[in-house]
Amino acid sequence: MGIEIETKYGGTGASFFSSILAIEELAKVDASVSVLCDIQNTLINTLIRKCGTEEQKATYLIRLAKDTIGSFCLSEAEAGSDAFALKTKAEKKGDYYIINGSKMWISNAEHAGIFLVMANVNPGLGYKGITCFIIDRDTEGLQVGKKENKLGIRASSTNTVIFENVKVPETNILGQVGHGYKYAIGMLNEGRIGIAAQMLGLAQGCFDHTIPYLKERMQFGKTIYSFQGIQHQTAQVATQLEAARLLTYNAARLVENGKPFVKEASMAKYFSAEVAGLTTSKCIEWMGGVGYTKNYPMEKYFRDAKIGTIYEGTSNIQLSTIAKLLGQEY
Ligand SMILES: Cc1cc2nc3c(=O)[nH]c(=O)nc-3n(C[C@H](O)[C@H](O)[C@H](O)COP(=O)(O)OP(=O)(O)OC[C@H]3O[C@@H](n4cnc5c(N)ncnc54)[C@H](O)[C@@H]3O)c2cc1C
Repeated sequence: MGIEIETKYGGTGASFFSSILAIEELAKVDASVSVLCDIQNTLINTLIRKCGTEEQKATYLIRLAKDTIGSFCLSEAEAGSDAFALKTKAEKKGDYYIINGSKMWISNAEHAGIFLVMANVNPGLGYKGITCFIIDRDTEGLQVGKKENKLGIRASSTNTVIFENVKVPETNILGQVGHGYKYAIGMLNEGRIGIAAQMLGLAQGCFDHTIPYLKERMQFGKTIYSFQGIQHQTAQVATQLEAARLLTYNAARLVENGKPFVKEASMAKYFSAEVAGLTTSKCIEWMGGVGYTKNYPMEKYFRDAKIGTIYEGTSNIQLSTIAKLLGQEY
C-alpha cells in the first residue's frame, strides 16, 4: 500500500526499485493484485508525495499507507490515447470548484476511497487548463458507475466514475492549477515501468508453472522437456524474459538516479508486454490440451497478458514515444 511512503506517514520508506520488485513478484501469482499495487504506489502515492502540501500528505498518505485504495482518473470515453482531450470540467466558485463530467476505465474504482481526478478549469486554454483534484469517495455527486466485463485482470475493477456538481474545496487541488497535464505525463512515464514489471512477473509466473509440467509429462516414452524442439523454444522464451527484466530494471535504475528514462521506460513497457504475450501463448502450446483448459492457470495468464499492450499508453503510443526521442538523438 505504501512502499515508498515515508515512515512518518506509516509507509515503509523504501525505493522506487522496491515498488517495481513488489509489482513483479505479485504478478507472478496474480496480475490484478499486482496492478492494484502498481497504481497505488507508482501513480497515486507518488503524485501526492511529489506535489502534495504538508496538510494533504498528512491527511491522505496516512490513509493510503494503511487502508485506503486510490484511483487515477484521467481517461474518458472520448479521451484515451489522446488523454488531454478530456472534457471533465472544474468551474471555480469562490474558494471551491464544481466538477462535472465522467471518466472511463478507472481501475480500482469499485473499492477506492480516494480519486485523483484530472479536470479542466479553463477549456479555452486547452491542455494547459488541466488540473488535478483529490476527491474523497463519499463526496456528494461522485458516483462509481458501470463495471466493465473484461477479458483479463478480472479481479481488478474497472468502472466509469461520474461527477455531477461535485463540490471540491480549492485546498484539494494537488500541485498547481493548470499543471495537471505535466503531472499526468510524469506519473505515466514512471508508471509504465510498473506495467513492464507487471508483464514481466506475469510471464515469469506462467513460465514457472509450465516447465515442471513439461518435465513430468511423458510422450513417445520421454518427457516433453527432453525434446530438442521444446528445449530450443523454452530457451528462446527464457532469453526474452531476461531481456525484458534487464530493460525494466534499467529503466527503474535510471529513475532512481535522476537520469533521463522516458525512452527506456517506453521500451521496457512495450517489450515486456510483447514478451508476456509470447510467453503465455507458448506455455499454452507446450502444455497441449490441458494448457487450454481452466484446470491450469496458463489460460488466465494468457488473458491477463493482453492488457499490457493497452493501458498506461498502448504499444503504438510507446513506439511513437521511442521514435520521437530516438529522432532527437540524431
Ligand atoms: C482494464 C483497463 C484499465 C484501465 N485503467 C485506467 C485507469 O485506472 N485510469 C485511467 O485514466 N485510464 C485507465 N485505462 C484507460 C487506458 O489508459 C486507455 O484504454 C488507453 O490509453 C487507450 O485508450 P483507448 O482505449 O481510448 O484507445 P484508443 O486511443 O481509441 O486507441 C485505439 C487504437 O488506436 C491506436 N492509436 C491511437 N492513437 C494512435 C496514434 N497516434 N498512432 C498510432 N496508433 C494510435 C492505439 O494504439 C490503439 O491500438 C484503463 C484501460 C483498461 C482497458
